[in-house]
Amino acid sequence: MRGGSLGWHARRFSAHLTPWAIAALVAAFSVARATLGPLRWSDLAVAAAFLAVEPLIEWVVHSWVLHARPWRVLGRTFELSATRGHRRHHEDPLDLDLVFVPGWVLVWFAPAVTVGLFLLVPAHLAATLLATGAASLLAYEWTHYLIHTSYRPRSRYYRHLWRHHRLHHYRNEGSWFGVTTAVGDVLLGTCPRGADVPVSPTARTLGGTPLR
Ligand SMILES: [Zn+2]
Ligand SMILES: [Zn+2]
Repeated sequence: MRGGSLGWHARRFSAHLTPWAIAALVAAFSVARATLGPLRWSDLAVAAAFLAVEPLIEWVVHSWVLHARPWRVLGRTFELSATRGHRRHHEDPLDLDLVFVPGWVLVWFAPAVTVGLFLLVPAHLAATLLATGAASLLAYEWTHYLIHTSYRPRSRYYRHLWRHHRLHHYRNEGSWFGVTTAVGDVLLGTCPRGADVPVSPTARTLGGTPLR
């Protein structure tokens, strides 16, 4: 396979563990749903509703969690590990090991969400929602990975995403939070024209002390 081709990057992506773990979740939730009877209209409605709000989830997680400011309590500074990990990613956007979903998301967050959903909603809807969510996470992981590789966009939509996320990293960290879609930024007013926004001096550090 030619170095730098899409297939070549896909092969390097698949050498990492988290894409396989997320793909296993997609398969497990899909099998679980299949054992719970035929698909119903409510499954389609739940999947469509999730996909409709997914751009907002992406925006909220990136803007409010990954870019959260550290807070001080009794003279000590606290920062979420997800925020710290994202800061490292901003410090070194070319380090591809830093673009993957952190392990704790799969080790305790996903199981906790799974248990919670199965307790709260009918089992067939929980399985559908979880399969859709895991598939979205896999799409996010692959898109984010590819944007940070040397692969040059060919399709119009991917070129748009590529430019969008690179503006976030290299122009101003206060805008362009979407990765698989810019819909959240358009709706929430964080999708300015690149040329209208000054280059931020903190786009690399996110305003914090360099971590390494
Ligand atoms: Zn990134
Ligand atoms: Zn960011």
